[in-house]
Amino acid sequence: MRKANTQFWGFSKTKRIFVVIVLIVILCAVVNYARNEGRVVLLSTTVTETATSNNQPVSNNSAKETAAVVLNPVQSDEWRTVRMRVTAYCPCPKCCGEFSDGITASNHKIQADETFVAADRKYPFGTEMVIAGYNDGNPVEVLDRGGAIYGNRLDVYFGSHQQALEWGVRYLDVKIRTR
Ligand SMILES: [Zn+2]
Repeated sequence: MRKANTQFWGFSKTKRIFVVIVLIVILCAVVNYARNEGRVVLLSTTVTETATSNNQPVSNNSAKETAAVVLNPVQSDEWRTVRMRVTAYCPCPKCCGEFSDGITASNHKIQADETFVAADRKYPFGTEMVIAGYNDGNPVEVLDRGGAIYGNRLDVYFGSHQQALEWGVRYLDVKIRTR
């Protein structure tokens, strides 16, 4: 037994230490890769939902434990993605009818060149949304409601009727975070 111990795949003592160091470096690289993978994958809807439902006590299984540790920092963001029908509006009487008073349903007084959205009641005022092609892809808040804006329908706000017309109707994957 002792004799077998002194032999390590036929390497001398110095080489043995070198081999151990190489193995540690490889292990670190693999862990790093797994971490990055987790982050990239989480940008898609399906996996984000899974990650949320995965929020249960960690089991004895070390593999599951590692996965939970890797996923947790991303979960804290709580962004989820929903496919939405996105239309546009402005404060004019054509778009808002009797509500064209420049004040949103959340009692917000509209300033020039603002960016926000009208959404269904299931999205509380202040809910953040990231809509491709709107506000340079930066998050905007839900500040308004609309009679035709229910379920997965959104209305993005523009300062002019022409801009709203140019937007048209778009079907987009919208990132949503409720605070
Ligand atoms: Zn209008």
